[in-house]
Amino acid sequence: MKHEELVKRCVKLAERNVRDGQAPFAAIVTRGGEVVSEAVNDGKATFDPTAHGEIRAIQMAGTKLETTDLSDCELYTNCEPCPMCLAAIHWSGIKQVYYGLSIGQQAEFDEMPQELYEAFRTGEHSVKLHDYSGKVDGAAPFRLEERE
Ligand SMILES: [Zn+2]
Repeated sequence: MKHEELVKRCVKLAERNVRDGQAPFAAIVTRGGEVVSEAVNDGKATFDPTAHGEIRAIQMAGTKLETTDLSDCELYTNCEPCPMCLAAIHWSGIKQVYYGLSIGQQAEFDEMPQELYEAFRTGEHSVKLHDYSGKVDGAAPFRLEERE
């Protein structure tokens, strides 16, 4: 299937998801031109704020292919990935992402992704990070992993 057709398929899946009362997002993971997984944002149904289509599609692809290395896969989505999904895509090893609506274009409907990109770029976000590394041995699991 061609890239454009797969992006269009994501748009259709996202439209169906909206009709099902969910958020307007869907994603597909492919390998060698074959669809490995397709998923929608089901965060409203599952009460999971991280249930973005890209995250779900990556999880399903990893489970199906029995690997955490998806570097030979591609990802398609109806919208440019948010920072969380972009990070997940990075962790998965996926190198090619195709989307149908940019973050800038999406801002007309939802400003959150653009605000998140800006917050992480500037370091100005509402999450307070509390560093206890001087008080607890947070490196213990890594030393254990080295011995195993
Ligand atoms: Zn996302």
